[in-house]
Amino acid sequence: MFSMMEAARLEALHLAQDPVTGLRAVIAIHDTRLGPALGGCRYLAYPNEESAIRDAIRLAQGMSYKAALAGLEQGGGKAVIMRPAHVDNRAALFEAFGRMIESLGGRYITAVDSGTSSADMDCIAQQTRHVTSTSSAGDPSPHTAMGVFAGIRASARARLGSDDLEGLRVAIQGLGNVGFALAEQLVAAGAELLVSDLDPGRVQLAVEQLGAQPVASEALLTTPCDILAPCGLGGVLNPQTIPQLRCAAVAGAANNQLASADSADGLEARGILYAPDYVINSGGLIYVALRHKGDELPAITAHLSRIGQRLTEIYAHAQADKRSPARVADALAERLLYR
Ligand code: NAD
Repeated sequence: MFSMMEAARLEALHLAQDPVTGLRAVIAIHDTRLGPALGGCRYLAYPNEESAIRDAIRLAQGMSYKAALAGLEQGGGKAVIMRPAHVDNRAALFEAFGRMIESLGGRYITAVDSGTSSADMDCIAQQTRHVTSTSSAGDPSPHTAMGVFAGIRASARARLGSDDLEGLRVAIQGLGNVGFALAEQLVAAGAELLVSDLDPGRVQLAVEQLGAQPVASEALLTTPCDILAPCGLGGVLNPQTIPQLRCAAVAGAANNQLASADSADGLEARGILYAPDYVINSGGLIYVALRHKGDELPAITAHLSRIGQRLTEIYAHAQADKRSPARVADALAERLLYR
């Protein structure tokens, strides 16, 4: 356990169980030097305890990098609740989790993640104030989309020489909360949309409301386009898909798009510009972090608008050093965290 923590430079790992509600939770606090650790809470069925702990540690580290590069006074953390086969009282389980968070005295702040909702955060809020994305705090997805839109502009400027999106072909994989909001902004800017989603209803909506061109899910990654925007699940950039991509740049919202660090080099070798996922999709984190601090929307929007500039700087470094933007972003984040 300690060697796993050391390898990830993890500050602390907290485990809690509560037989009354069935709670079995892990909170991984990666780094608090820049501020309290902020990161979502997953509620998923894990095959065993080790996989839950590994997931929490890996994701907590990612949150430190994301917060550091987003210029937030915030550290990285993540929580994982092992979803029981059966739960009698979900609200009581999340309240018990809220007490666990409260016991950490503000070193960890939680938020919505896979398998949790604003309603769950409301239950946590009964026990602690160290919680964001409650139903009164608002959905971060439109803010994530806003940041990705700024990132697509920066990517177009760096790779195609202009950030004018008029007539640009953008292929969006996944039209969920972020993907659809992004599609709306792209259409308003004159881009041509190629879209896919596993849910045909989402595709239909984009065709009818935005004039998007539908593409079969299995064909989207190989569709010729200027920008590919993965907004579904992670792992889409891997040794199988990279040789088949037909885009100039990849710039989308999905977390963990690269199957491994080597995939970034594979994209670089093909001359495909890659917007590091945790930089371009940091709008949601910026929103929840600043809302939690009590900032108003204009201040949040101003902070969000720096995502494009940050990417532009990363692309310039990458070009100068002949390295992938993903490797440059990691190095910059590590400099901020471990200086
Ligand atoms: P969502 O669940 O609302 O939407 C995801 C959509 O992608 C769904 O409609 C799903 O059907 C579709 N999808 C999944 N796999 C697909 C595939 N192979 N082909 C086509 N469509 C596919 O999720 P979301 O909140 O929109 O988030 C999208 C991505 O962005 C996720 O990876 C998420 O982790 C990441 N992200 C989201 C936020 C946020 O604020 N919501 C912030 C940062 C990162």
